[in-house]
Parts: sequence; structure tokens; C-alpha cells
Amino acid sequence: MSRKDDPLGVTQSIKFNTRLKAIDSPEDIPANWIGSPIADLIGSHNFGQKIEVTGEPRMLISTCIEFRYHPAVPSQYAYVIRRASGRLIGSEFALVYALSRGVKHVVLIAHNDCGMTKVTQHKPAMIATLVEQGWDSERAEEFVAMHAGRYHIEDEVDSLKREFYRLKRLFKNVEIAPLFVSLSSNRLHVPNWYLDFVSKPDLGNANESVPAEEYLMLP
Ligand SMILES: [Zn+2]
Repeated sequence: MSRKDDPLGVTQSIKFNTRLKAIDSPEDIPANWIGSPIADLIGSHNFGQKIEVTGEPRMLISTCIEFRYHPAVPSQYAYVIRRASGRLIGSEFALVYALSRGVKHVVLIAHNDCGMTKVTQHKPAMIATLVEQGWDSERAEEFVAMHAGRYHIEDEVDSLKREFYRLKRLFKNVEIAPLFVSLSSNRLHVPNWYLDFVSKPDLGNANESVPAEEYLMLP
């Protein structure tokens, strides 16, 4: 499927079209990913290429619980962590485990129309759900209020960037690839900010906006 066949895709959207780069041919894959499992993953999603498995874990994929998306990888290929919004916050131990098993590539896959950008509007229904499950209404409100702040993201591309920088600071020698899937086409895109990062790797200023509790005091 080409970009033109995907009128609802992120490259046609006002919110994302200037912030993501489409990968329409293998030449569009960033050079630092060529020959790596990251390029194989992109080939599977965007060009229908078959992924060969070796029986060894090749990467860790972290993505959202989103029901409209499923990573296009065969079994015996990747560790997969799925959490609301796709951030690894709270799953760092699992990431360390995957690294200790020989994984050298981590892929973060964000997506458009993420429910975690709408947590505030979902709060009343979530509280009602807990009450239906027999929870005391005050305890239900407290629970939702406590977790909503942690899970809520303002913007899918910015949240991906923030998580990328946080993880780069925690895990300095692992290749981390931020990708963005368009739900309507299942195609992967590269955020433009990552292309800037690759041309001039610098964790300096971006790190300063990450609060210490997000990387020094893991949940
Ligand atoms: Zn999501």
C-alpha cells in the first residue's frame, strides 16, 4: 500500500504530517538501521517482507495495548511488551531481562489516536466500571485519579520522544528505535526529531526536561 492509498494515514493528517517521515522504499530507512533487526521489522510492515527467525530473540518491541494494531513479527523473533501508550515506564526490569538474553535492539512503536491522550474523558467511565466491580466509589476515584496522571500523554509523537530520551539515558549502549505506526495502513514511520537526533546525537537539553524520578527512581 502506498501513501496515496492511505488517505486516513498519519502522513495525510494535519496533526502528524509535518512531524513524521514515511518509509515508502527501503532507501527511506535511516542508514544506522540498515542490516539490523529494525530494518527487518520495517520491511515486514511496509514492504511485506518475510522475517527469518533464528530461534534467538532479536529485539524487544514496546508498543501500546491498542487493539487495532499488532506488530508484524513471527513468533520466536521478539520480546513484546504492551502497555497503555507503549512506554516502558514500570517495565524496565523486563527490558533488562531481554538485554541479558542477548537483545541489542529496542523498538518503541507509538501510534495515532492513542486512548491515553484521552484519559481525562475516560475517567468517569473507568470509575463507574470499578464501582460495577464492587469497589467503594471513593476508592475507585482515588485509584483512577492516581493512575490517570501517570498514564496520560498529551501527544503521541512528543511522548515517544520523551520516552526515547529517558531510555537512552538509562541504557546507553542499546540501539533504541522510535517508530510510529499509522493505524489505517499498519505502516511504520520515523519521527523527524529522530532524524535530527541521528545527525547530531545529543542527549543534553532534552534530558533536562525528564524529571529525576522517571529515571533515577524507577517504579
Ligand atoms: Zn495507544
